Amino acid sequence: MKDWRKEMNMNEATRVYGPYEGQFIDGVWRAGKFGETLAVINPYSAQQIAEISLASLEDLDAAYIAAEKAQIEWASIPASKKREIFLCAVEIVDRRHAEIVDLIIAESGSTRLKAEMEWASVRDTFLEVSGIPSRVEGRIMATDVAGKEVRVHRGPLGVIGIISPWNWPMHLSTRSIAPALALGNAVVVKPAEETPITGGLLIAKIYEEAGLPPGVLNVVVGRSAIIGDAFTLHPVPKFISFTGSTRVGRHIGQLAMQGPTLKRVGLELGGNAPCVILDDADLDLAVRGALFGRFLHQGQICMSTNRIIVDAAIYDDFVSLFVERVSKLTYGDPNLMETNIGPIISKRQLDGICAKIREAKDAGIHLALGGEPQGQVLPPHVFVDVDNASALAQSELFGPVAPIIKAHGEKHALILANETEFGLSSAVFTRDEGRGLRFAKRLQTGMTHINDISVADSPNTMFGGEKNSGIGRFNSDWIIAEFTCDHLITMQSEPRQYPF
Ligand code: NAD
Repeated sequence: MKDWRKEMNMNEATRVYGPYEGQFIDGVWRAGKFGETLAVINPYSAQQIAEISLASLEDLDAAYIAAEKAQIEWASIPASKKREIFLCAVEIVDRRHAEIVDLIIAESGSTRLKAEMEWASVRDTFLEVSGIPSRVEGRIMATDVAGKEVRVHRGPLGVIGIISPWNWPMHLSTRSIAPALALGNAVVVKPAEETPITGGLLIAKIYEEAGLPPGVLNVVVGRSAIIGDAFTLHPVPKFISFTGSTRVGRHIGQLAMQGPTLKRVGLELGGNAPCVILDDADLDLAVRGALFGRFLHQGQICMSTNRIIVDAAIYDDFVSLFVERVSKLTYGDPNLMETNIGPIISKRQLDGICAKIREAKDAGIHLALGGEPQGQVLPPHVFVDVDNASALAQSELFGPVAPIIKAHGEKHALILANETEFGLSSAVFTRDEGRGLRFAKRLQTGMTHINDISVADSPNTMFGGEKNSGIGRFNSDWIIAEFTCDHLITMQSEPRQYPF
């Protein structure tokens, strides 16, 4: 394995990565063969960051073949050597901190605060995952058969295909790539077309510098319409780890059963997180939590607080304090430290949010705070007295739009909170921790946070949703179970008597 410290002089080690122009397949940076390029555009300045030659079906096939070949040796590399690569990646992201944060801001329109959070979670993931290679365990099981030993061995799946979205591109790709590699699998990743750099190519640069052998990680940047279905249908991957919308996730899940080989899927999908404020909540804390949980990254997070459900006893006080605080949020240039709300990722996505706002206004829902888009920056919106059955409350808004819903008592709040097709995350605010826990247990979501925001994902903590928010779990022991397969092996040491 390569040791970058020996092979690089300091100038190389400090040089900014790039340019990003093509694919990373079998350890080689090369042009895609599709014959078209993808312009990567900064969603705030509208300037072009990079132009990438797109992958063809032939490139996708080459990536899977390379991964399949490289995986065999990679699986046999000792745990300590694998750990070194992740620890080296930590050193690299520390050294390249400013470069990475600036790229996240430029490519995904993240505010500086959010980009720093994303950088920190990527670093944390590398650190946490560095311990995974030595944590894989098997079992010896009880048996009634004399002279028999029954074991369950645990090993890598083989090749894992990863499809990631644009909202936390580096974190969400890393959340799948790092444990997949740590467990001895090889990976082909297809980042979102909006964020091919921070969702894939930048990550490949880091692993390459950290000494990951060629072919173990491959990045294909291509149009979903061209390579999307083939990515899942291809016979090589044993598992497709998809993070994105429920609509596309459902399609991926169906394809995984249709190709020449059946494959497992992990589907981390959309959300409609309720933030419930009970009548005994600390009002100031609840307002601050609902605000940050809603407006962080312009509301473009699967766990974002999509509905704020407030008990009638404190509803008026909550609404006036919330609207006052939201009106003070700053929006505009994401590069500036003081900016709270940056641009929406694309014009298409912005148009979709504006259409939902228009429909809500047309339906007579009261808009307490709003404003016109400036470029792709949408000022924060607050709708009050929202009906939970309305399209506004039932759709994943994925923008800086906060619907507030009135609940008549705790039971009603629970019914409202659970009245959604989604079940990813949720939050409840109350001064009574026992009451919070009882309430949390009845929420039909994979994750609930008492007296904190609905947005949280730590590499040592379980992550995942219920209902139409997905299938599967991430992080720590949960991802070890997902990205490995169990193999039952029995050994009969004494001759057995068979019935015939
Ligand atoms: P999306 O489903 O449109 O796209 C996700 C990824 O799938 C992208 O890389 C896209 O290029 C790719 N894709 C689209 N069609 C494909 C196809 N036919 N075959 C293969 N790949 C295809 O989602 P998005 O707009 O990028 O992301 C926003 C959505 O993701 C929201 O619904 C959000 O809630 C969800 N999300 C979920 C989680 C989670 O952990 N549950 C995290 C982040 C985002």
